[in-house]
Amino acid sequence: MPSIDVLAERLSTYLDDDQVNLVRRAYFYAEQAHDGQRRRSGEAYVTHPLAVACILADMHMDHQSLMAAMLHDVIEDTGIAKEALDTQFGESVAELVDGVSKLTQMNFETKAEAQAENFQKMAMAMARDIRVILVKLADRLHNMRTLEVLSGEKRRRIAKETLEIYAPIANRLGMHSMRIEFEDLGFKAMHPMRSERIRAAVKRARGNRKEIVNKIEESITHCLAREGMEGEVSGREKHLYGIYQKMRGKRRAFNEIMDVYAFRIVVDKVDTCYRVLGAVHNLYKPLPGRFKDYIAIPKANGYQSLHTTLFGMHGVPIEIQIRTREMEELANNGIAAHWLYKSNEEDQPKGSHARARQWVKGVLEMQQRAGNSLEFIESVKIDLFPDEVYVFTPKGRIMELPKGSTAVDFAYAVHTDVGNTCIACRINRRLAPLSQALESGSTVEIVSAPGARPNPAWLNFVVTGKARTHIRHALKLQRRSESISLGERLLNKVLVSFDSHLDKIPAERIQTVVAEYQQDVLEDLLEDIGLGNRMAYVVARRLLSDNGEALPSSEGPLAIRGTEGLVLSYAKCCTPIPGDPIVGHLSAGKGMVVHLDSCKNIGEIRHNPEKCIQLSWAKDVTGEFNVELRVELEHQRGLIALLAGSVNAADGNIEKISMDERDGRISVVQLVVSVHDRVHLARVIRKLRGLTGVIRITRARG
Ligand code: MN
Repeated sequence: MPSIDVLAERLSTYLDDDQVNLVRRAYFYAEQAHDGQRRRSGEAYVTHPLAVACILADMHMDHQSLMAAMLHDVIEDTGIAKEALDTQFGESVAELVDGVSKLTQMNFETKAEAQAENFQKMAMAMARDIRVILVKLADRLHNMRTLEVLSGEKRRRIAKETLEIYAPIANRLGMHSMRIEFEDLGFKAMHPMRSERIRAAVKRARGNRKEIVNKIEESITHCLAREGMEGEVSGREKHLYGIYQKMRGKRRAFNEIMDVYAFRIVVDKVDTCYRVLGAVHNLYKPLPGRFKDYIAIPKANGYQSLHTTLFGMHGVPIEIQIRTREMEELANNGIAAHWLYKSNEEDQPKGSHARARQWVKGVLEMQQRAGNSLEFIESVKIDLFPDEVYVFTPKGRIMELPKGSTAVDFAYAVHTDVGNTCIACRINRRLAPLSQALESGSTVEIVSAPGARPNPAWLNFVVTGKARTHIRHALKLQRRSESISLGERLLNKVLVSFDSHLDKIPAERIQTVVAEYQQDVLEDLLEDIGLGNRMAYVVARRLLSDNGEALPSSEGPLAIRGTEGLVLSYAKCCTPIPGDPIVGHLSAGKGMVVHLDSCKNIGEIRHNPEKCIQLSWAKDVTGEFNVELRVELEHQRGLIALLAGSVNAADGNIEKISMDERDGRISVVQLVVSVHDRVHLARVIRKLRGLTGVIRITRARG
């Protein structure tokens, strides 16, 4: 554990004397503030903030971050106010400390809901000043390094949270070294036995591999020298948690994972990277399809490098990463590397910093859209594991999406409106299903139509948080407005039967009733009625102020127009179509389900006015309705084609067809046909009857 003097010495290699002195002052302030407090391990408390500052110093963070690190537990643990820090150390440092304290106060529970809230807070803090999260990460890293002193239960909880939240954040911010350490420490705390076993196995393997590693390293170094290029060649090892995940996730044997030899070549400039690539491809044969140019197209977290895999001697696979020193720094420290390479105050945010900011902005946008924290964390978690595909817009712009993304994800990535109104897509100029997973290099074109709406089924295949949140949001709005309009019609229908109408009821009376139902506005009450959570009949009686027994004089059925949307659905059991006598069944939260009047499932509740409502079809009903037909006919060749031809000739559409052979002579075919109404259905049936060999046609109901 270095002392403040050692730290100051180290800082003077990259900070001004004034700045180093400020960090010192912050240290002594903290030492005094925490005087008498001890860590669980028995050490003086100030050793913790000092260690946190050292971690940040290793990343060459600026002096304000280091001061904030020294002071990060002062507000929380010593009762010194933010204002006091403000006068002592200035506003920026006080804000940083305050930001970190707020993150510390997060109530860490394993419950997903609490986790989500924590995450939101973190995103907010990051958006204000991204250094807050860097201090927080360093704080967590030191706590992870000193985890042993805690009880088993607490240790596991912190480790789990580190693996689930902190490691992915570090990864998203491009902080590779920190992520690796989080993961290995977290793994060790969660699964001490497994971690130990893998560690021992790696150690054994290292011995066996030594000779080959040296040989390869030598031949690469030699090759570079021959070509007159300078580069630092070093062997890489996978970290324990990475090996563990590979063994679990991809079901690989330990030996299989260890059979790969990995090297890194660090050079002076980009140009050299490509020349080195050429040289090693000349030395060993490259494995086709494994070359990746993350220099031209960096990863979402800003990572840049060339990756390639070679066949070494005796066919040993060799993975090679080639990058510049700056890229290496960025790969290890990610966003923190920004401060290292900052030339002046007004420097444009570059590389990982700009990307990280963009991500944080996206996270905040998602948070505003998401209905609750659970939805939010679901969205964010997906975004935290970036494995990207790269596709192109028709104009040649590169879009970067997580692996498995579909055209719908792409559409939302382009613009929310494009996503909301998309109806079809072309991948490489060919029409393709919206649900198809995109592949890198494809050109994607979205076909949109004004007034089109997101389809709930998209939620089954979209991958990005952004698409998911916007689809849900749009559906929620749509469902609400549809529920309100259905609720209003249901309520007015009852009111009219009492010779009244919503328009005729005084506003104060409406407000009173709305308040009685503990709603804020009439719309909320109407929405509840439309969703089937509340009975129109009961609400109407309240509005008419109730004098008791009065029963509706004439109750005409409510007309269905077919445009009610998400709050109205047609029962699958009896598939009603316009022209059929129908009833509506109100089911809580689902809205209204339309059944045939004769449907068996309706049987007992038919006369319960709280559950069932008489319906009729409006004159101007539009749309296509599915109906199931059962056709018995003599077996003949080409029978399906014949049936399809007849349905088609009557302007019907076959949605589904299935066939049973009764005996050698008679076949029974089930057809699901979409029609406009009963008249249309009659026409379809007439056509089918005209076929030779048809014995009987019946419509399936309930
Ligand atoms: Mn702390």
